[in-house]
Amino acid sequence: MATLSERAVRDRNESAWLLPNDGTRTNHRLRRDMRRFDDADEIDLVIVGCGAGGSILAQRLARRGWRVAALDAGPFWDPDADWVSDEAGSHRLYWTEPRVIDGSDPVPMGSNNSGRGVGGSMVHYAGYTPRFHPSDFSTYTDDGVGADWPLDYADLKPYYEHIEQELPVAGERWPWGDPHGYPQRPHPVGGNGEIFLRGAGKLGITAKVGPVAISNGRFGNRPHCIYRGFCLQGCKVNAKASPLITHIPDALSHGAEIRANAMVTEVVIDQRTGRALGVHYRHNGRERFQRARMVAVAGYSIETPRLLLNSASKRFPDGLGNDYDQVGRYLMVQGAPQTAGRFDAEVRMYKAPPPEVSSEAFYETDPARDYQRGFSIQTVSPLPITWAEHVAAQGHWGRALREYMSDYVHWSTLGSLCEFLARPGNRVTLAEEKDAHGLPVARFSYSQCDNDRALMKQAQTVMEDILHAAGADEVITINRYAHLVGGARMAADEQHGVVDRNCRSFAVPNLYITDGSVLPTQGSANPALTIMAVAARAADHLAGSA
Ligand SMILES: Cc1cc2nc3c(=O)[nH]c(=O)nc-3n(C[C@H](O)[C@H](O)[C@H](O)COP(=O)(O)OP(=O)(O)OC[C@H]3O[C@@H](n4cnc5c(N)ncnc54)[C@H](O)[C@@H]3O)c2cc1C
Ligand code: SF4
Repeated sequence: MATLSERAVRDRNESAWLLPNDGTRTNHRLRRDMRRFDDADEIDLVIVGCGAGGSILAQRLARRGWRVAALDAGPFWDPDADWVSDEAGSHRLYWTEPRVIDGSDPVPMGSNNSGRGVGGSMVHYAGYTPRFHPSDFSTYTDDGVGADWPLDYADLKPYYEHIEQELPVAGERWPWGDPHGYPQRPHPVGGNGEIFLRGAGKLGITAKVGPVAISNGRFGNRPHCIYRGFCLQGCKVNAKASPLITHIPDALSHGAEIRANAMVTEVVIDQRTGRALGVHYRHNGRERFQRARMVAVAGYSIETPRLLLNSASKRFPDGLGNDYDQVGRYLMVQGAPQTAGRFDAEVRMYKAPPPEVSSEAFYETDPARDYQRGFSIQTVSPLPITWAEHVAAQGHWGRALREYMSDYVHWSTLGSLCEFLARPGNRVTLAEEKDAHGLPVARFSYSQCDNDRALMKQAQTVMEDILHAAGADEVITINRYAHLVGGARMAADEQHGVVDRNCRSFAVPNLYITDGSVLPTQGSANPALTIMAVAARAADHLAGSA
């Protein structure tokens, strides 16, 4: 029987109840009977990208009766047919189109930073869904680094609460930031999580179970997690939340069209009025144009600025909305050192969801330290190929690599997310190289600053201490990056950003950006929940109720 809070969720988003209840994962009828708009129809809203930000916008406005089409460059995934419980076999979930990287600390692109297809990167994200802290919204005023948002935590709080119920999120009561509870109780913890809790406990560091967008119990027609550890390969079970199952079914049932395999190549502007007219896109080898009253771009932090720059016109010669040279700037990636510890007893870290236990005890600026802002620590639990990458990055090869691989079941792995600071020179521009559509690809330049390096060093020290305290006899750390946000940030005015506090472009009144690109800072939280909350708030604004 549905609980009171489930009924409240169902009243605003029925997705979990629209999925089949017969052991299969996709409502094929809903997809087959989907409303289909004609290119020549001037629909209310065309959305570019059907991931964390785009899907929420589509669902919220379809519910309000808007005529919405969301175009995604990738496929409309069917978990039963398309996803496999195999690490290597899952690589087609990633955005693997060419991108150029440079700067003094280039960020490798691929599996670890973006997805392709309906559901976006959340299809293969880990499932951690922490909120940002109130301090994230005023780092410039409080810490003299980063930027102040043009909105604050209180503006997002009701949206956090709603999305947490819709995913739903499971976890212990959260003591950090704005303390809060979660709709579902915490999951039981596997070997890796137990080690984190044990080591942190010995050092007096608070660590908690959750918050993860993985159903702990049945939710609508979605089943309980079965703890098989394939969250980053696309959860075939439908226990882990992604918009493909949490928002798209409801969007379809309210008349939205999801147009898969539709690569948008340009946002077209009326050169006389300066308003957006619609988008050019490629679909089944054909060049097409969808007319719309409003356009929203939600293609992820690299592809959104790239599309704006590729949409240059007479009126916007340096790229759409780029009169103040803000498009593509302030792109952020989190430093993500990963530390593994070996234990005599078997850990078998793969036997649970990789996201389980985390700590935000080091999140804010500590005046006793010589760096600003902070980091979080989380269990990560790599599967064997990712474990081999960790070991190889340490320089082990041949016989040594084989020995580490054979020893896999004895290792526990923690990861940290360090708040690398937003800097104008870390940006997307257009490269000379072209993709298969003949469009210039993104060039992403990235360099760290001293504060970034100091944070990463301290995060490594704390993780190594935790694993030693838990009893590890050998500890190895590699440095990585995780998540990408920014590149079309929100700001108080057009000289400092691309969109306003409601995600509306300063330059084009009927153009919105509703993905991770708009975030001015990133905290040391995983970003998906905040991206969804920002998009849900933008939807309320568009519908005239925020
Ligand atoms: C391995 C991995 C693990 C992660 N783990 C976590 C986690 O635990 N917690 C968390 O909060 N976050 C996590 N993330 C990050 C999170 O998934 C992303 O931050 C979030 O999905 C970004 O949302 P978005 O709307 O900006 O873009 P996306 O969700 O990536 O959606 C963008 C969509 O736009 C489409 N698109 C792009 N360009 C075009 C175009 N020109 N035309 C049409 N379509 C286009 C893409 O195909 C894609 O579907 C993880 C990411 C990865 C890769
Ligand atoms: S561990 Fe749970 S959430 Fe992760 S893939 Fe398996 S069933 Fe899905």
